[in-house]
Amino acid sequence: MNGTQASRIADLERLLRRIAREHAPSALASSLSAEDMVITDSILRLGLDIEIFTLDTGRMHADTLNLVSAIRERYGYTMRVQQPESEAVTDYVTRFGRDAFYTGPELRERCCAIRKVAPLGLALRGKRSWITGQRRAQSATRSALALQEFDAARGLAKFNPLVEWSGDEVWSYIGAHRVPYNRLYDQGYRSIGCAPCTRPTVAGEDVRAGRWWWEQSGARECGLHVAGDGRLVRSGETVS
Ligand code: SF4
Repeated sequence: MNGTQASRIADLERLLRRIAREHAPSALASSLSAEDMVITDSILRLGLDIEIFTLDTGRMHADTLNLVSAIRERYGYTMRVQQPESEAVTDYVTRFGRDAFYTGPELRERCCAIRKVAPLGLALRGKRSWITGQRRAQSATRSALALQEFDAARGLAKFNPLVEWSGDEVWSYIGAHRVPYNRLYDQGYRSIGCAPCTRPTVAGEDVRAGRWWWEQSGARECGLHVAGDGRLVRSGETVS
């Protein structure tokens, strides 16, 4: 491990301790990505009082959800798995079809709103802050990401502790700490969401190019990090 990486890990642990101390109750919204597994490992190794949850949209790869049991076996921690509201899912499928998100942005965003955004709101109920594994290098839309933001849509402090980390640093941490990770990464996936909306990327493509690849333009975001008016939440406003 080089000096930069050691200092990044020290910064990560310092920030997580501060969040647990000054911004409780807090939660890591884990997509079970490599980045979220780094933060999960830090939280659980340090024994911090920060909840870790994931959203089971009902359309995930089995390899992704297998990490829930891998975390339980490795750390003895049972993470919360938040499901979407079944009536809303049934209504969508009945009216438009299960895979209607391929027909255009409106039904794609509506599916994400039901299966991701609404469950995120439920999981964050009662929290003062939340944590994500977003990094600036993942895409152009994340290039201005701040370490600490104010999530105005939910009225919560929001932290992105890996904002300055490179992909190589994430994988170096996973290797050094023997952190469980999604085996789909070994098959060419670099950003993993719902199974029907994710494909592997090819050389030269943006990390998130495999997400909703059929859409010709747009932020390639699902709404978890987008304000109610459609803007990406990137205020960078500092919260105490
Ligand atoms: S990523 Fe795809 S399947 Fe998952 S919630 Fe969004 S549109 Fe629906």
